[in-house]
Amino acid sequence: MSVFNTVAQAPADVIFSLTAGYKADKHPQKINVGVGAFRTDELKPYVLPVVKKADTILFNNADLDHEYLPIAGEPSYTRAATKLILGDNSPAIAQGRTGAVQTISGTGANHTGAAFLAAHFKGSGKVYISNPTWANHRNIFASLGFDVQEYPYWHPATKSLDYEGMINTIREAPSGSIFILHPCAHNPTGVDPTQEQWKGIADAMREKNQFTFFDCAYQGFASGDLDKDAWAVRYFVEQGFELFVAQSFAKNFGLYGERAGNLTFVCKTPEDTKRVLSQFEKLQRSEISNPPAYGSRIVDIVLNDPALYAEWKENLKYMSSRIIDMRQKLYQHLVDLKTPGTWNHIVDQIGMFSFTGLKAPQVKVMIEKYHIYLTDNGRISMAGLSNSNVEYFARAVDDVVR
Ligand code: PMP
Repeated sequence: MSVFNTVAQAPADVIFSLTAGYKADKHPQKINVGVGAFRTDELKPYVLPVVKKADTILFNNADLDHEYLPIAGEPSYTRAATKLILGDNSPAIAQGRTGAVQTISGTGANHTGAAFLAAHFKGSGKVYISNPTWANHRNIFASLGFDVQEYPYWHPATKSLDYEGMINTIREAPSGSIFILHPCAHNPTGVDPTQEQWKGIADAMREKNQFTFFDCAYQGFASGDLDKDAWAVRYFVEQGFELFVAQSFAKNFGLYGERAGNLTFVCKTPEDTKRVLSQFEKLQRSEISNPPAYGSRIVDIVLNDPALYAEWKENLKYMSSRIIDMRQKLYQHLVDLKTPGTWNHIVDQIGMFSFTGLKAPQVKVMIEKYHIYLTDNGRISMAGLSNSNVEYFARAVDDVVR
């Protein structure tokens, strides 16, 4: 009798099973709008030209070795990541109230932050995630013993933000609860609060002493503007909040598989910051010892070189513009086809994803009849659309909603 006899079968990951279905499909017009990775108009993975340059620099560096990085990561990298999200002139940085730990991409940043909070944060034990959200938020926080609750976010009737519902939940949650907030390009809805709404959210968070945990996976990728996408985080810091920000360089650098991430934390005093960092180092040691070096070296080179940094911004513009262009084309096709319903949300939403409003039975037809792969909540990745397939996609939507 095996000691593993009683291990139950875990459900397969939805996104990754969708991709497996797509790969096995032989239909010539098949489309994958399930996975959240950027594709060119030829639907090919995109290696950013600036990343290729940084690669060459790394390759030609005769002094490069493969020693361990420091436990909290390479300081030039974590400092640059913190500056990127908090801003060049952030008073919190100047005052020594910020620290950072290099993580295994955005997932690791969420996990490391969550593990720290599980050990050191004396709050209500509750974590609030948006309804809906990136599925891993629940997995990560639940696996660390938190009681995971949801705050309303998507309002199906208006296909926009349920601001009232969100604010009420912040106010009604027990004090000392952790709120996971997406500062830009909300996954999966593509709906972000306005700056006025962020101010209201900050007020409610302050009134109830809730803890802010930003998860920023799309800085610069959403609007094409790094500062605009960081606005909410910088506003909270300016308002004196202590907070965590998880950063991923998967999307904005196209470094998906290289797992370059960072967790920036903002404390009240430099003394607190020093102690917090020491605990992060202790935690990191037991989990991964030292972070991986390759992806972070690429990011480090680009963020710390003004010419490459400027070029990165151009690459970001290309990616965000292609996505915005696909939103407009999809919208226009649906309008031209006189597809029943309103479709402005397609162009109003931002970032890689669009929450189309398609229901699970309609999604089933999209997959079975049209060979178009998307999750049953109706989310699509705009990067899966191209000038050659957007019309076919729109015709399929038109058919399933009639
Ligand atoms: N948070 C959110 C909201 C995301 O959408 C993603 C990417 N799908 C991540 C974090 C982290 O992804 P990664 O671990 O690949 O950086």
